[in-house]
Amino acid sequence: MSVGNEQITAVIQRFAAAVTEHRRLLTRLDSAIGDADHGENMHRGMRAALERLDGDTPAALLKSVSMALISKVGGAAGPLYGTGFLRASKAVEGKDTLETDDVIAALDAAFEGVKQRGKSERGQKTMLDALGPAIDAARDAAAEGADLSETLRRAAQAADQGKRDTVGVQAQKGRASYLGKRSIGHQDPGATSTAMLIACMTGEDQLITAAAEDASAKEPESGPGVE
Ligand code: ADP
Ligand code: MG
Repeated sequence: MSVGNEQITAVIQRFAAAVTEHRRLLTRLDSAIGDADHGENMHRGMRAALERLDGDTPAALLKSVSMALISKVGGAAGPLYGTGFLRASKAVEGKDTLETDDVIAALDAAFEGVKQRGKSERGQKTMLDALGPAIDAARDAAAEGADLSETLRRAAQAADQGKRDTVGVQAQKGRASYLGKRSIGHQDPGATSTAMLIACMTGEDQLITAAAEDASAKEPESGPGVE
């Protein structure tokens, strides 16, 4: 299986639908440790991306998404996602279809772009905490001979775990970092939307739904009366 314009268009459409469907969750997560706008930001950005979605190559399509996100979304996430999509676009320039290695290269380029633009790294409670584990898992899967579908499925599972793991971490970047230790115990909104994006690459509804869950809401509370 390889990925062409049709599949990339479908991923973008699925992601736009997912952020719209789950925008309240994303905003609620951001209300706990930010300024309660991540859902609206992503919804607005992906609406614009759908309107402008244009191009006859994977690179052109990804670039059109990037431009929409950069121009339509204020705040941190728009330019960061926009940079990610732009770098992914550059990584696949000149290709009509993408094989597993090309997809991993695109994800890796996106990771480096966000890292550079955000002056951030893994472990700081950001979208990189979903994207980084996804890339590791994709590389491992590909090295074991997995096909693209299986590689993406494993990437999505790792992104979901990475998102869950942000709950216990203290934020060191963005608005959430202003809360210091009080950011612990909440799931990062950007890591959540990134886990959703990777899940959308698989096209599996079950993985998309899982990505859009708040793991912190499910943690059993300790204390008197709780078994
Ligand atoms: P804003 O913080 O400007 O309101 P959003 O609420 O849309 O923007 O996005 C917040 C998300 O952006 C955070 O949850 C985090 O994942 C991500 N983020 C913020 N700053 C950085 C950074 N420097 N590097 C990587 N990701 C970041
Ligand atoms: Mg915000």
